[in-house]
Amino acid sequence: MSKIEINRPLAEIPVTTLKGVGPKGAERLAKLGIESLQDLLFHLPLRYQDRTRITPIGALNQGDQVVIEGVVELSDVRFGRRRSLLVQVADGTGTILLRFFHFSSAQRAALSRGVRLRCFGEIRNGPSSFEMIHPEYQRIDDAASQELEAELTPIYPTTEGMHQLTWRTLTQQVLDLLASNPYALADLLPLEQQSRRPTLAEALHYLHRPPPDAPLAQLFAGEHPAQQRLIFEELTAHQISLRQLRQQQQQIPAPIIKGDALLQQRLLKSLPFQLTGAQQRVVDEILSDLQRPFPMLRLVQGDVGSGKTVVSALAALATVEAGYQVALMAPTELLAEQHLNNFTTWLRPLGIEPLWLTGRHKGRERKERLQRIADGSAKVVVGTHALFQDDVIFHSLGLAVIDEQHRFGVHQRLALREKGHSDAVPHQLIMTATPIPRTLAMTAYADLDLSVIDELPPGRTPVTTVVISDSRRDEVISRVSRACADGRQAYWVCTLIEESEMLQCQAAEESAQQLTERLPNLRVSLVHGRLKATEKAAVMADFKAGKIDLLVATTVIEVGVDVANASLMIIENPERLGLAQLHQLRGRVGRGTTESHCLLMYHPPLSGNAKARLAMLRESNDGFKIAEKDLELRGPGEVLGTRQTGEMQLRIADVLRDQDLLPDVQQAADEILQRHPELVEPLIHRWLGERVEFGRV
Ligand code: ADP
Ligand code: MG
Repeated sequence: MSKIEINRPLAEIPVTTLKGVGPKGAERLAKLGIESLQDLLFHLPLRYQDRTRITPIGALNQGDQVVIEGVVELSDVRFGRRRSLLVQVADGTGTILLRFFHFSSAQRAALSRGVRLRCFGEIRNGPSSFEMIHPEYQRIDDAASQELEAELTPIYPTTEGMHQLTWRTLTQQVLDLLASNPYALADLLPLEQQSRRPTLAEALHYLHRPPPDAPLAQLFAGEHPAQQRLIFEELTAHQISLRQLRQQQQQIPAPIIKGDALLQQRLLKSLPFQLTGAQQRVVDEILSDLQRPFPMLRLVQGDVGSGKTVVSALAALATVEAGYQVALMAPTELLAEQHLNNFTTWLRPLGIEPLWLTGRHKGRERKERLQRIADGSAKVVVGTHALFQDDVIFHSLGLAVIDEQHRFGVHQRLALREKGHSDAVPHQLIMTATPIPRTLAMTAYADLDLSVIDELPPGRTPVTTVVISDSRRDEVISRVSRACADGRQAYWVCTLIEESEMLQCQAAEESAQQLTERLPNLRVSLVHGRLKATEKAAVMADFKAGKIDLLVATTVIEVGVDVANASLMIIENPERLGLAQLHQLRGRVGRGTTESHCLLMYHPPLSGNAKARLAMLRESNDGFKIAEKDLELRGPGEVLGTRQTGEMQLRIADVLRDQDLLPDVQQAADEILQRHPELVEPLIHRWLGERVEFGRV
């Protein structure tokens, strides 16, 4: 490397300047997002091995990964079920067996009696003593020449063709460079934050090359101050990027929606109920957003049954009254159709006929519908993601309502934005029944405003949940029979562990058949994901009309389906689902005034974690509490679905584990945005790289 390079910031020096990185190597590194020396330094070890000391064989524990040293006492090839080479090694404190399933005759000859060996591997319990299976080993011919490692050995996340040794030599070159010029890597935190933590260079050096006495357990848990230093910076970078998104959002014009609210008043008068306090508050929040000259980006969270639909209808009416169009989108056709029905019932008397658009509309029919969207005669359009397609052009889209946000990513929201005028973008109202724990809201959703409908309409009786073994299936079936004899309706939900929709449908078909035989007096029907949309809709309509007693279903009924007379739900193998999903499913009952029950019929034995999850569900009907627990048991990746994996990928931080840092992170983000704007770009570049592009306007 030339002298000139040494004085440049690491972020500007390409990896190709390193010894040992040719075009191929550069390509492999690029696959992992590593282009500069800075990127390489932020590629941190996953874990460490301790090769700094020799452990006496007598002091070994099962599961340890250690170096041992001893003399071969016996070496023998066994011809059992599998041919293997067994080598017994002793060091005066005990003996251990090395076991090789693959070996050459040269190897066998080298591992002969009297040879001194140093081995590294994991200690396992064998039939008669501890064993190491295929350990790394070397012959020690001259003890003085074989030095142990001076530092813990880092193990890097890697890709094909990149050996751990390569990672070590590459990172070593950068660490040396950094040691000779500490300014090559800028500390991007404000000074106040820096003083409380190790410097960035110290932290990185420590994590790449921890000293022999490093607290491995603390490192493993991500709680070491060196890790915390980086975690803090990463969370701060994310926070800033989300706030930037939000600020950018506020620079764009959106239609100002203001009116005398006549249509809203007429809708409210026609409803058989009054809004709850929480609904009213959220409606007010939305209406005040709509009056501002930049786009609303508001996420409404409300537990299942909290009445989000009518809230969105009121927002829609305000928009229509101001002369703009509304698009309402749902993730499934089933749900979209239900919205269409609700909106039609509510809006038709006001002279507004919602237009239905799905992927099923083809040819001339589609053309006609598109025409009415384009000329503005369709004021309210309801559909699935078919509304995102390029040929759907709105005359004057003012508001997009997106139900069950989890399945709509940022990309789609941006695509939607393009559906507005050339000079203004629509307001966005996103609704979800999956409560988002505060910790996640503060991180993953920092670019949105949040509203919470934290009150259920009056007159609902909470669902009683029972956890029951499937050995009592007969009892469960008679329970269904009794409930339906009393004029109630029931759901029977089949779950499968496989992702395969086909298998899940098959299981549901089998259950439906069996239940039809066992319950000859009941009208049993089946709905699953492989039915045509029209068929699904017909079954749901029959169920809603009371023409079906027992509806056997896959998890397609998860979101939004609303049948007040259904008061019993059986969920088969609930242990296979996450808490939030179970809570969603359960929300299909308890929508009327009768007492409702949910039977979680598990297949024993249950794991400890599954037991805890089901118990949580039995004990609580509070979606927020359940979501907190879900987050704790399954982690944010699962809870957030695709959003977390694709768009909120953290390298070292873990929002749950590191939540205590969040208040400080928010403060640091404020400070940087206000007082150190020059840090914003490098911070985002360092931690988010190209991934942030999706947010650019
Ligand atoms: P979700 O929030 O799960 O989408 P919905 O909007 O489907 O809930 O509402 C569930 C049911 O509650 C619907 O039948 C709806 O008409 C009814 N509902 C909504 N608000 C109220 C209210 N304030 N009082 C009584 N019933 C209400
Ligand atoms: Mg809903």
